[in-house]
Amino acid sequence: MKKLLDGIHRFQSGVFGAQQALFSRLSKGQDPEALFITCSDSRINPNLVTQTDPGDLFIIRNAGNIIPAYGPLHGGEAATIEYAIEVLGVKDVIICGHTHCGAMKSILDPTGLEELPAVKGWLTHADATRRIMKTVYKELPEEELLETCVEENVLVQIENLRTHPAVLAALTRGEMQLHAWVYEIETGVVDAFDADTGQFVPVQQAGRGVAERAERLGGRRQI
Ligand SMILES: [Zn+2]
Repeated sequence: MKKLLDGIHRFQSGVFGAQQALFSRLSKGQDPEALFITCSDSRINPNLVTQTDPGDLFIIRNAGNIIPAYGPLHGGEAATIEYAIEVLGVKDVIICGHTHCGAMKSILDPTGLEELPAVKGWLTHADATRRIMKTVYKELPEEELLETCVEENVLVQIENLRTHPAVLAALTRGEMQLHAWVYEIETGVVDAFDADTGQFVPVQQAGRGVAERAERLGGRRQI
């Protein structure tokens, strides 16, 4: 805790004053570039990875960067997505998974989840990920399972995202693009799903709106 308190002191005494204009502007409102959905994992920092400032990213974080499909029980994710699109007018939504994700490890091997009923329940929103891994990738070498699970889960959550009325309406109006990313903790590389190849490639090589194009071209992996 001391590290945090010392950090607040340094922020207030050194950083804040140097960016006074930014914080003054932000006190009047926000106009974020994108809705960024990622894992709660402490090893990924959306603003650091994208080199963005306060005010640039509207962020949802939870275990496994999971977005429950739209339904009658409106949770925090649904409300945040709706607000980002309908009120803030966000034009890009990114779901960013990451390597070495503990939530994805639990999807591949649920041992121990009996003692974590809340986590177990939450991961049911990634049941499609689990089923894809069991049926499509059953021959995959053990060492490739986790990386593939992380990628497939990002694509599954993109599908869940599309069930939200605000998302689908904005996509239909042609006013929004979805992006499926994976951050590699060990290299700093950010991969994006590229519909042309059906693979994740470094984000600099992928076109914009890759996830949306994937659907138009007939779905992932078949392209
Ligand atoms: Zn994670």
